[in-house]
Amino acid sequence: MARTSALFLGHGSPMNIILNNAYTEHLMKLGQDIPTPKAILVVSAHWLTQGTYITSAENPKTIYDFYGFPQELYNVTYPCPGAGVQIAELDAVFKNASIQYDSDRGLDHAAWAVLKHMYPNANIPTMEMSLDYNKTPKEHFELAKKIAPLRDQGVLIIGSGNIVHNLRAVDWNIDATPYDWAVEFDKIAKECILEKNHRSLIEYEKLGRAALLSIPTSEHYIPMLYTLGLQAEDEQVDFSYEGFQNASISMRCFTLQK
Ligand code: ZN
Repeated sequence: MARTSALFLGHGSPMNIILNNAYTEHLMKLGQDIPTPKAILVVSAHWLTQGTYITSAENPKTIYDFYGFPQELYNVTYPCPGAGVQIAELDAVFKNASIQYDSDRGLDHAAWAVLKHMYPNANIPTMEMSLDYNKTPKEHFELAKKIAPLRDQGVLIIGSGNIVHNLRAVDWNIDATPYDWAVEFDKIAKECILEKNHRSLIEYEKLGRAALLSIPTSEHYIPMLYTLGLQAEDEQVDFSYEGFQNASISMRCFTLQK
């Protein structure tokens, strides 16, 4: 089986679930352009745990982990089949990486808000992976290498977060002009990604004021380190989408490809 691609997707505001804009159109196109995977694993910015978990429910429920949005968003469901233990060959990879199963947890919007646009038929078995809040950025990056063999089993791994994500600074106008520091750090990150300077991205706290304003908490940034940790020697990064929403959120997305 050919190695699957791996993606990092900025997911931004839950409003994107029901919007049609350049960003959501790009997700739709991405779903059509890449070969259909056997299963999907989303590393979620919205699931923090002690230890690392994989959802293993046969029919994961749609979790509405956002508040105060229009009712229309809460009417959307994403009834995809589950994956995890259902696919026996993946089990050895998870065991080797000391990842445990959670049979109760459903999919939060880090997964379904993007998958709804990429795969609207919700017919691909999907699982989500949590972020262990005890791990350092370097340890997250290293864990990605342990789950990389999933790509040879037909699993599309998606890191879902945002490179720049400062909720305190959000402008409720989705098209607001981005802050200078957001643009600055997004550019720094882009350059480091292109240069495969992963060390600087892991040690982002040393990257100065723009980095600290862009990453006040790391849960949206860490999923990107997973995608970079999956990058093989012979792979390049293609930026499938660049842009900002709500002034303080970078929607930058990328794909690993040969
Ligand atoms: Zn989020």
